Amino acid sequence: MKALALLSGGLDSILSAKVVKDLGVEVIGLNFVIPFSHKNKNGLVDIAEQARNIGIELIKINLGEEFLQIVRKPRHGYGANVNPCIDCKILMFKKAKELMPEQGASFLISGEVLGQRPMSQNRKSLKLIEQEAGVEGILLRSLCAKLMPETLPEQKRWVERNKLYAFNGRSRNAQFELAEKLGIKEYQGPAGGCLLTDPEFGKRLRDLKKHSGLDMDSVKLLKYGRHFRLSSEVKLVVARNEEECVELTRLAQAGDYIFYPDAETAGPTAMLRGKIELVQIQLSSDIICRYFDLKNSNSSAIIYRIIPQPEEKIIQATKISEEELVKYRI
Ligand code: SF4
Repeated sequence: MKALALLSGGLDSILSAKVVKDLGVEVIGLNFVIPFSHKNKNGLVDIAEQARNIGIELIKINLGEEFLQIVRKPRHGYGANVNPCIDCKILMFKKAKELMPEQGASFLISGEVLGQRPMSQNRKSLKLIEQEAGVEGILLRSLCAKLMPETLPEQKRWVERNKLYAFNGRSRNAQFELAEKLGIKEYQGPAGGCLLTDPEFGKRLRDLKKHSGLDMDSVKLLKYGRHFRLSSEVKLVVARNEEECVELTRLAQAGDYIFYPDAETAGPTAMLRGKIELVQIQLSSDIICRYFDLKNSNSSAIIYRIIPQPEEKIIQATKISEEELVKYRI
């Protein structure tokens, strides 16, 4: 018997897959990659390795525009930040179900635990997610299965119901104990891989949604730098480190302005995007100048060019005051 297990990198999903695998089912891991994964992989678990460690294969699936669509307008609303968890799960389970025939799988496995998350893991939401994804009866939540109606794999005795679990509520002690027992050491903290649960990222996303709408290119940019709203149609992004300087230049599109210091000055790269007016070039330069290492000086020359033109221009900038700066910061 074969099953597909949704793996997020978190503890619950890997536990639920391992529990079912240990009952004799052939399990294949499925990991959905969303446009809102952290850019910085430091501190994030390697899901392929996590799957290998419990002896299962992993399939990765990219969710792009479809995922963006639910972030734009989630039918079931957002969680505490801009995380549309119910719609997200419905989409992932639908996709997983579509893959079942080609993988020869008879059921799905997920690590949801009844009562663990107020919005997406209460009894009503779990039921609704199953119904809307069309996975009623074929989705086994092995960590809380004993608290849920019997599913097909239990009815058919592909897995023994009494070997499954009845975990419930927000405490994760039972999961930690089970992880210890099953030798699972590598896992992500709760929602650690999804930027939509991050309040700071949420501010940027709401700003983008309000002014220019969400598209894949603009969403990528949200992961980098300090963001400033100069007008409803113009936004400035200033890099925070070397890596972001490179990324901003890489993400620049035709018509974007790229700013950088001259060879004598240390400072970040910045990108200006939108319907740019002359006054916003000066304002941007004054903002960027604040992040230059100018020793005792208050002003500096800044170089800029318009992508893809190679010609460089120079503008004189004077550091904007902190008081002024906060008016623009997102
Ligand atoms: S935290 Fe992010 S990835 Fe996880 S269910 Fe919610 S929206 Fe989806």
